[in-house]
Amino acid sequence: MNGSRAYLDHNATAPFLREARDAMVAALDLSGNPSSVHSEGRKARSVIEEARRNVADLVNVKAEQVTFTSGATEAANLALTPDYRMGRGALVMSKLYVSAIEHPAVLAGGRFAKDDVIIVPVDGDGRIDLKALEIALTAHDREAGLPLVAVQLANNESGIIQPIAEISAIVKQSGGILVVDAVQAPGRISLDLSLGYADFLILSAHKMGGPKGVGALISNSTLLMPAPLLRGGGQEKGHRAGTEALPLIAGFGAAAKVAKERLTKSDELLAKRNAVEAIILNQAPDALIHSATVDRLPNTTFFTIPGLKAETLQIAFDLGGVALSAGSACSSGKLGTSHVLEAMGLGKVGGALRVSIGHETSDVDLAVFEKCLADIMA
Ligand code: PLP
Repeated sequence: MNGSRAYLDHNATAPFLREARDAMVAALDLSGNPSSVHSEGRKARSVIEEARRNVADLVNVKAEQVTFTSGATEAANLALTPDYRMGRGALVMSKLYVSAIEHPAVLAGGRFAKDDVIIVPVDGDGRIDLKALEIALTAHDREAGLPLVAVQLANNESGIIQPIAEISAIVKQSGGILVVDAVQAPGRISLDLSLGYADFLILSAHKMGGPKGVGALISNSTLLMPAPLLRGGGQEKGHRAGTEALPLIAGFGAAAKVAKERLTKSDELLAKRNAVEAIILNQAPDALIHSATVDRLPNTTFFTIPGLKAETLQIAFDLGGVALSAGSACSSGKLGTSHVLEAMGLGKVGGALRVSIGHETSDVDLAVFEKCLADIMA
């Protein structure tokens, strides 16, 4: 809540945390290069390594499994490549399999040629079609290389959570490698990578209250790694060259720590989301809450009010003091049909609105939302 405005667009970017800010301000005053061996350099290095431990703790792995990047988009471009190394040996991924509702950071296919990217369909709720995935991976030509599969843990528009254990079993059965875009999960659902459901996880700091422009690729082993995207110095063990973005990484670490603590409060988050959905159905009884009966993030509501265009509603909400997004709004403010809705077979419903809340969403925010929706429906 900011003045009389309610910020209900946490999936776009979560409110910046005080803890992240404090860590960043402190890091800004460190003048040493983290690669320098003198004491200034070592001080900077220790801040990076503390942040790495916090990010590793969030997903229950060792610090050495975390490679910092400039965000989830870079982490995806790092992971989605045909060229991998297993220890000293080269490993080739000949095709990339992605779900139809991936974020563009993954859907673009990273360093794969367009023809080598295979799109796997989803059902009406947005869950990956497991049979289609299995058929595609069974047909995969192992002579040419291994299959690389990239799916989201949770969708940024609908909040739907993919059946990751089942997806993982299918990928393992095919001998493939699984990259999971877990950007929308921290602080909302558990992310224990030590369970072994994925080979790689992708995270982004600004979706958990950290700064924009920093993220990570987290590997489940230190043996298997993609060929670097950025070559140069030996930073990040040679997996990502370039002097580390010290203040951003410090902020990321602080936010990851908070995200882990917040997991214990996901029931409270769910109660607030249920309150949002009660308001919607009370004010607009014929509203459709998409994917309502399947596993979803406890902070996301994706809905359509029949007869009212999502883009128009979004503007009305903004004027009424509520920041939320239309499912059809994609990057750089462009408006177009949401590929997520289309893949779910809902391309013709006139778009959908996304309310995405967070632990800081207050009763006042919900009251502003309710009043605004009531005014729109009057
Ligand atoms: N993946 C998902 C699911 C996202 O929601 C986003 C951001 O919207 C990204 C990837 C890209 O993250 P970044 O902004 O760090 O590049």
